[in-house]
Amino acid sequence: MPEKPEVITVANTLKKQIIGKTITDCSVYWENIIAYPTVDEFKKEIIGQKIKNITTRGKWLVFELDSYLLLIHLRMEGKFFFREVDDIKNKHEHVFFTLDRLISFRFHDVRKFGKMYLLDKKDAYEKKPLCELGLEYNDSELTGDYLYQKIHLKKLPIKTLLLDQSIITGIGNIYDDEILFLSHISPLRKGNEITKQECNDIVLNTRKVLDEAIEMGGTTIKSFTSSEGVHGLFQNKLAIHGRIGNCHSCGNLIVKIKVGGRGTYYCSHCQK
Ligand SMILES: [Zn+2]
Repeated sequence: MPEKPEVITVANTLKKQIIGKTITDCSVYWENIIAYPTVDEFKKEIIGQKIKNITTRGKWLVFELDSYLLLIHLRMEGKFFFREVDDIKNKHEHVFFTLDRLISFRFHDVRKFGKMYLLDKKDAYEKKPLCELGLEYNDSELTGDYLYQKIHLKKLPIKTLLLDQSIITGIGNIYDDEILFLSHISPLRKGNEITKQECNDIVLNTRKVLDEAIEMGGTTIKSFTSSEGVHGLFQNKLAIHGRIGNCHSCGNLIVKIKVGGRGTYYCSHCQK
């Protein structure tokens, strides 16, 4: 699943290709992808809108249009392709946007878990899903104190709490493991067992891990449409997630467990 750094890379890549273009047609072949409004309204309202900017909020891509924000979540496998307008539809291409009457910009999603919202710009941030998102990893309001306040009464494992997008938005399963490894904290510890100092460490390491990944995403990714996608990208840089064998820090065997249903890697010697 793409995480924040990958979503930022996608946004930056798309920016170069589609800012300033106008959506002149739209077709939806898998209606469940359109979460809001209805498919008919979505198509009607989006036609004629110019793409002014592309940013991110959490793991959402935010396309700023003339009067709307188009939000797209890639979920597991969503990606984009540019085609000729009359190119044959691939079976995994579910939403088509024609740009300037000559480019077919297509949302491709094998699993069909992707979601799109078209929200009025005026109050988009007061509506779902934007109103439910917590602080960005680089928001100055994100401090150890903030995290402590959010988790110190919770009995869920810290691994699960860091995935809660209403606390910090943008952390996914992979970087969660990395952050906890760097912070020397076991993913199994409960929120109410994490000290203020440990919250400070988590916030610091969240910035460290995501900044580094974003920087690499900006320089290493060649094509966000590649079938290997972003999974291959940071693999060599990951300290713990996906590693089989010994911890590079202490030599202990890395264990893989499930926490809240998510595959979790950690070193029981380094992480207490
Ligand atoms: Zn270790």
